[in-house]
Amino acid sequence: MANTEDRNQRHKKTMQRKKEHIDGRIAEATIDKGLLVVLTGNGKGKSSSAFGMLARSVGHGLRCAVVQFIKGQWECGEQLMFQDNLLVEFHVMNTGFTWETQDREQDIAAAGKTWDQANLLLTNPDIEVVILDELTYMLTYGYLDKEMVLSALKTRPEQQHVIVTGRNASKELIELADTVSELGESKHAFNAGIKVQKGIDY
Ligand code: ATP
Ligand code: MG
Repeated sequence: MANTEDRNQRHKKTMQRKKEHIDGRIAEATIDKGLLVVLTGNGKGKSSSAFGMLARSVGHGLRCAVVQFIKGQWECGEQLMFQDNLLVEFHVMNTGFTWETQDREQDIAAAGKTWDQANLLLTNPDIEVVILDELTYMLTYGYLDKEMVLSALKTRPEQQHVIVTGRNASKELIELADTVSELGESKHAFNAGIKVQKGIDY
């Protein structure tokens, strides 16, 4: 019994110290600004995390926009969910995966057209949250000019949040970002021969 009380006391003290530390850190965070969030890495969870933040933002009544630079053949649940929502505008580069089109010139033209849409959003202070889904591939394949993209991200409205997803985010993009998560692949069902699943994968 005494042992339990002792343990409870120790727990209380540890939690008090923890609370002081956390409260201190919270008090120090006084800056309010639009964030650049980069979700990269080989593991699953980049786009779904971005769309999770879209759901949060819409829940708070924020004006949002989604630009999808690559779209697979499946009809994405996130688009079905948000496409009729007046708070969300959707722009989709409708070419599919680069390994499906196998046409570099066509991909470059489509990427340029889609970027024009993104650029309009990145200069519009009324848009509070912008998702640039699978943007990194446009840079790794050289479909979009890296400096042009970085410059548009840098000069966007101060309070605008931007979320970029895709594998192999460049060093410069990571440096520019405020929050970067690298999703690692510990295991993926696809490698066990399991096909894409509605709701989980698209
Ligand atoms: P999600 O949209 O599920 O969050 P993601 O954006 O992290 O995935 P992408 O590379 O954009 O990853 O994946 C597109 C599709 O490929 C999704 O259906 C996803 O489930 C699947 N996928 C993601 N990671 C892997 C992986 N490591 N191996 C196989 N398939 C994957
Ligand atoms: Mg994705």
